[in-house]
Amino acid sequence: MSKRDYYEILGLARDASEDEIKKAYRKLAMKHHPDRNPDDPQAEEAFKDVKEAYEVLSDASRRATYDQFGHSGSETGAGGFSGFGGFSEAFGDIFSDLFGTGGGGGRNRSNLYRGADIRFGIELTLEEAASGIERTIKFSSHKVCETCKGNGAKPGSRPVTCSTCGGIGQVRMQHGIFSMQQTCPNCQGSGQKIEQPCPECHGQGHVKANRTLAVKIPAGVDNGDRIRLSGEGEPGINGGPAGDLYVVVELKQHPVFVREGDDLHCELPLSFTVAVLGGEIEVPGLNGRHRLKVPPETQTGRTLRLSGKGMRNVRSGSVGDLLVHLVVETPVNLNEKQKKLLREFEASLFEDGEDRHSPRTKSWKDKVRSFF
Ligand SMILES: [Zn+2]
Ligand SMILES: [Zn+2]
Repeated sequence: MSKRDYYEILGLARDASEDEIKKAYRKLAMKHHPDRNPDDPQAEEAFKDVKEAYEVLSDASRRATYDQFGHSGSETGAGGFSGFGGFSEAFGDIFSDLFGTGGGGGRNRSNLYRGADIRFGIELTLEEAASGIERTIKFSSHKVCETCKGNGAKPGSRPVTCSTCGGIGQVRMQHGIFSMQQTCPNCQGSGQKIEQPCPECHGQGHVKANRTLAVKIPAGVDNGDRIRLSGEGEPGINGGPAGDLYVVVELKQHPVFVREGDDLHCELPLSFTVAVLGGEIEVPGLNGRHRLKVPPETQTGRTLRLSGKGMRNVRSGSVGDLLVHLVVETPVNLNEKQKKLLREFEASLFEDGEDRHSPRTKSWKDKVRSFF
């Protein structure tokens, strides 16, 4: 029986890249898949051909043999087809390629896993965030077992090489013509078996531990900022690298200031008289008090800016401003005499002509007039 050329089956040139081979395979396998073409023997045949072509061309050494010797070279040991599974099996090899379990000699290192990252929330006052601070944090995570130095074996014994995978941690499983690499079920990928587990960690190689770390928080950090402590997370698996520890900043609400980026905002009550006549007021700042001139005839809601009295930006180092929002207070608890003075004062305003002393009322009335 003459066989079609593998490149022809996949519609590829002979110098097609690995990527092109994968793409062509994915497209054609999807097109001819039996799930999509029920009771279509032609599609079934085409699907088998595509699978076979891919199996050979995606394997560098088999492809080289095929390029040199054609079908006679690639058929060594081919056991024929024994049906096929679902989509996931069809794409199994592509996925395992993505995860880089690729062959090559020597011990397969794909069974090393990086440890998990740990997130630790830290609550700071605005003052602490402004100045920066060193904090000692306590948390629990795993650490390498000291009794067995992390290999999980009872002191005096050693882990032995797994007999199922020969220490590689992966085994090849035959699914029809597909041979797929899988994590070794006997050693769970570590390549080693522990016959006498360490009594301290029960063979895990790590133990739960309460840990204490000093963390330097730089000046200017804001809500949600993360400080990364490389390698301080959970230990890796099978000797993989440790994860990272992320200290996540949470700012406590401040009784006076509200932070907005690098700026600070605060509200400042202003007496009616100072608002009218002007004067000097004291404004609290994060590092001491500031004196501020209030100009005469200040209206409520006016904002005064104190340049460079905000927060330092943790990245750029530039410093924000302090914005003081003035709120003119209505006097309360007045006695009869004070009320009388105010009435007299009010009457005196009207002697000068309507609205002359009321800038807002005047502009408001003008607007209403133009509207109606
Ligand atoms: Zn094994
Ligand atoms: Zn141990």
